Amino acid sequence: MLFDVAIIGLGPAGACLANLLGQRGLSVVVLEREADIYPLPRAIHFDGEVMRIFQNAGLRAPVEAITRPGLKGMHFVNAQGDTLLIRAGTAAHGPHGCANNYYFHQPELEAVLRQGLSRFASVQVRLSCEVTDVQEWGDRVELSVTDRVQQTHGTVKARYVVGCDGARSLVRKALNAPMKDLGLHQPWLVFDAVLKPDAPELPSYTVQHCDPARPMTYCNVTGNRRRWEIMLMPGDVPEEMVKPENLWPLLARWIRPEHADIERAVIYTFHSIIAEGWRKGRLMLAGDSAHQTPPFLGQGMCAGLRDVFNLAWKLDAVIRGKASPDLLDTYESERSPHVEAFIALAVRLGDIIQTTDPQEAQERDRKFKAGQPEIFSFPSPRLGPGVLTGDHPLVGQPMPQPALDSGQLLDAVLGQNFAIIASPELLNQVSDSTRNAWLACGIQVLPARDKAVAEWLQAQQLQAVALRPDRYIQAVANTPGELAALSWPQA
Ligand SMILES: Cc1cc2nc3c(=O)[nH]c(=O)nc-3n(C[C@H](O)[C@H](O)[C@H](O)COP(=O)(O)OP(=O)(O)OC[C@H]3O[C@@H](n4cnc5c(N)ncnc54)[C@H](O)[C@@H]3O)c2cc1C
Repeated sequence: MLFDVAIIGLGPAGACLANLLGQRGLSVVVLEREADIYPLPRAIHFDGEVMRIFQNAGLRAPVEAITRPGLKGMHFVNAQGDTLLIRAGTAAHGPHGCANNYYFHQPELEAVLRQGLSRFASVQVRLSCEVTDVQEWGDRVELSVTDRVQQTHGTVKARYVVGCDGARSLVRKALNAPMKDLGLHQPWLVFDAVLKPDAPELPSYTVQHCDPARPMTYCNVTGNRRRWEIMLMPGDVPEEMVKPENLWPLLARWIRPEHADIERAVIYTFHSIIAEGWRKGRLMLAGDSAHQTPPFLGQGMCAGLRDVFNLAWKLDAVIRGKASPDLLDTYESERSPHVEAFIALAVRLGDIIQTTDPQEAQERDRKFKAGQPEIFSFPSPRLGPGVLTGDHPLVGQPMPQPALDSGQLLDAVLGQNFAIIASPELLNQVSDSTRNAWLACGIQVLPARDKAVAEWLQAQQLQAVALRPDRYIQAVANTPGELAALSWPQA
């Protein structure tokens, strides 16, 4: 069988991509080396845009059931325990039609994503199957696969292959993609604990403990789960640091051993790197195989999920012959500068949190006390060049997702294709031939009669916006001529 797409790796990026492609009816095989979900938590936070991706994958309700909205913000505290700065919590409803931040236990999220795949007869998941080699031929890619349970070897063929195979990606090696280094490589001890019923009350918000002698982060995850991230200092011996007798004293200001069970204590080296060359021919990278982000902003997995939302509709259009394979080159050109902006900010934030020089720390603390530095505002970079028209500042930004008069959220009404939202007055001036051309391309037209959408257009001083399937704004228009002149990447 020749699959439309083979996905290597069933982590969050691979599982989300498989859901998005399954929704579009493509034939997909997912090959995962491990027999089960990686049982230990890594990511604990995602943002509102990512919840919107889950919504578009039809999984918002089950994801909401295993997450909690993060409304309480982040406190920066010095070595003496004085609060230097509070990064305020966020509103219960942000621009994406949900909260701005969510906390979760990664294995539970991965379980929801995997469960979602059972909806699609066209998606096959093969666990315990390791891809050992990737060979591209003219019209297909052949993957050498070892079934680790049956101890058998075989070949899987697909028209396109997406390497969602994590930091040590085999596909990245096959692409021979060099890595751009954004400078941060720092070992941290990640300690996850489950509180017992008699544990003391701990903060419900995140705490950055800015002690130059030992920077640490505390996070309230979900339920009784709590995370501490502890920076390794010169002279620390990693194998010693993870031993309970050395670990607990570091947490003495919060809890004692009798208050919690250790879920795990592992040293991770946080990296800040990005591959150059996410696509060659029929091979592509997504998620940690394409980039790695230090977790100070909680954005590594988020970036991978934005990757696959960007890629899914492009693969669909190319595989169905509606667009040229060149469309796939816009995937990296759009996503790479976007993820780089997040990594660069995480590195800057890391530099601030990781300060170990006492004088520098004093200066930082003084600045913190004086007010909230710009660095803490959430970035909203534009996509890089690609399927975007014009240089209006909204082009390349996600469209907000208001609730319509019916109570339905915008994306639920727009479906999976390109869309035009325009004032009824402007639409009345559009010729029949333009309307027929939109119809032929499957473009959905939404007259902006609903209050929230009409007010948004008015506030932006716009008559119309064109949206892509990933809900980024492709173009804006104010006249029938501008609207008719828009070009669409799929015919
Ligand atoms: C301590 C820590 C905290 C973090 N906190 C956050 C956070 O709060 N928010 C956030 O957004 N991100 C966070 N991250 C990052 C996040 O965990 C990762 O970005 C995310 O898990 C990457 O997902 P992925 O699907 O790209 O790769 P992975 O989850 O690594 O999945 C790759 C999969 O590919 C499989 N695989 C690999 N090679 C092969 C092969 N040859 N054949 C078959 N299968 C293969 C692997 O078994 C694995 O299942 C954190 C990371 C760490 C370490």
